[in-house]
Amino acid sequence: NVLVELTSVSKSYGNLHPAVNAVNEVSFIVSRGERVALLGKSGSGKSTLLNMIAGLDRPTVGKICVAGRILSELSATAIADYRRECVGMIFQAYNLIPWRTALQNVELPMVFDRREKAERTAAAQEALAAVGLTERMGHRPSELSGGEQQRVAIARALMNGPELLLADEPTGNLDSSTAEDILESLRRFTENSQTATILVTHDEELAYRFSTRVLHMLDGRLDHDSGVGDV
Ligand code: ADP
Ligand code: ADP
Repeated sequence: NVLVELTSVSKSYGNLHPAVNAVNEVSFIVSRGERVALLGKSGSGKSTLLNMIAGLDRPTVGKICVAGRILSELSATAIADYRRECVGMIFQAYNLIPWRTALQNVELPMVFDRREKAERTAAAQEALAAVGLTERMGHRPSELSGGEQQRVAIARALMNGPELLLADEPTGNLDSSTAEDILESLRRFTENSQTATILVTHDEELAYRFSTRVLHMLDGRLDHDSGVGDV
């Protein structure tokens, strides 16, 4: 039931002097359906780690295996396939396309889908309805609140039924009650599903509230794993 496996993963930025060891010999396993928080102070290596799992960046040494794929052995095309087929991502800054409507943003991941356009639109409408945005489908990101924009991003990230949902400080720009709503939606959509979630945050309370397991990062190292023993 293993979905993600990191084996002694390190990442250094050696072109800088002295070299920065952003991530240092990190190993852990995430099972299908698990909700994991990656907790640590700014600069502790969380985003670097998440980006490597997302296939956006490569380890200097070590191995990352997701859903049977060894990421370092994949070609650029295979990485693009991996991202499209396996991964959904949510960011602090939402990363929606500003000139497209909410509906168009959510339709985006389905561009390679064989279904008819009308079916894809219906699927996107259903996803937006599920996050409570039926009335906002024709709005552009600038016409939506931060919480609404993040709901659009959640709908988009879940559109292709990802095995792995990666969220980098998804509530970093939101007030605390909106943040709670967003995490609640994320939990609702991933609970009882095989989708595993890795949430990056510096907020300890939020980490423990959202996830079933917390990985503490300290200076690029995995300092503590609250779930060791029950993995
Ligand atoms: P976090 O997400 O926990 O804030 P990061 O993964 O962003 O931490 O950063 C970890 C360390 O790596 C920091 O010291 C940061 O300055 C450094 N770093 C991150 N990205 C780069 C980069 N592209 N080039 C050089 N150093 C980087
Ligand atoms: P292209 O390959 O056509 O250049 P990108 O990969 O840059 O497209 O993605 C286009 C848009 O889709 C961007 O806004 C990006 O943030 C978003 N996106 C890409 N991959 C994912 C994903 N796995 N989950 C959610 N959004 C994604």
